[in-house]
Amino acid sequence: MTALADLLIARIGQTGPITLADYMAECLLHPKHGYYATRDPFGAKGDFITAPEISQMFGEMLGLCLAQAWIDQGQPTHFTLAEIGPGRGTLMADMLRATKSVPGFHDAASVHLIEASPLLRAKQAELVPQATWHDTISTLPDAPLFMVANEFFDALPIRQFTRDDAGWREHMVGVQDDKLTLGLSAAAPMDALDHRLDDTKAGDLVELCPALPGIATQIGQRIADHGGAALIIDYGDWRSLGDTLQAITDHAPVDPFKAPGDADLTAHVDFEAIAQAASPAQFTRLTTQGVFLERLGITNRAQSLAQHLTGDGLDQHIAAHRRLTHPSEMGEIFKVIGLHPKGTPPPAGLTHDA
Ligand code: SAH
Repeated sequence: MTALADLLIARIGQTGPITLADYMAECLLHPKHGYYATRDPFGAKGDFITAPEISQMFGEMLGLCLAQAWIDQGQPTHFTLAEIGPGRGTLMADMLRATKSVPGFHDAASVHLIEASPLLRAKQAELVPQATWHDTISTLPDAPLFMVANEFFDALPIRQFTRDDAGWREHMVGVQDDKLTLGLSAAAPMDALDHRLDDTKAGDLVELCPALPGIATQIGQRIADHGGAALIIDYGDWRSLGDTLQAITDHAPVDPFKAPGDADLTAHVDFEAIAQAASPAQFTRLTTQGVFLERLGITNRAQSLAQHLTGDGLDQHIAAHRRLTHPSEMGEIFKVIGLHPKGTPPPAGLTHDA
């Protein structure tokens, strides 16, 4: 049992079962006991490893992709270069290094990071000291917005519902025998799930991410109003079906209800929800990470870096390239969607449906 489990059990005892989204939010972001508030979870020694921590090539490709989008949109002289959910700050640091040689790009950029965890903000400041930090997107400057989000949306809390003949039953976190357990609410209709009545049947489980539309709408509105582009990378698909809630400690799956605050909790991202909320910005076809990185030239970059490496370093470099791109590793389960203003070309490596 964790300190957070005691707090949640007391709260549920007083006010009743909570939604899975409330549970996830407490586990991840509780100011004293939350997962991201209390540790740096990234890297080989942490609980999980993300693409920018696997290889510098990931940030380099994304940085050059955004720089190309900036050039395609006429090189605006003042723009916001932003990342939401920047972790250790590695991705932004790699993007900045890779774009140093793009004439005018750094002079025009002001760097902004949107991060909830004070502990991770301090880490990010070591690698990206010039950044300005924000709690939410709403305080970003009104300027063209070129931004990335890698494994951010999967950290947003989700609600889960099981369909039955009378409507949707929500999965609620309650208490039984002094332990946190899942239960189902009474069936009720849910407006927000009307679009899932066509592709589900009784017994199917669907997920809803309540914070996602608000965030995606703000990104899309800013890009439509001021120009810019967003690259959103995450694991998931156009539309999810079934239970995708996952708890990870020390690189291995664990019970999400056993030690709240001690495990990373994530869920697959429904990219359809992002694409729809981001209107009037235009969205690209959902593309796998492997294809996207190959189109951006990661193999050429890998070969040129390999020339300076030997032995273990070379082996690790080859393994990292494979890990980012190969379909049996991160290449296929991770997807990329781009957002850009109507009338501008899609970000490099991404296309539109014919
Ligand atoms: N992009 C990084 C880290 C991904 S982990 C990488 O690829 O390595 C998720 C990140 O989102 C963490 O930095 C976490 O603290 C942050 N985060 C989670 N929920 C958030 C929220 N609601 N607002 C802002 N940041 C959040």
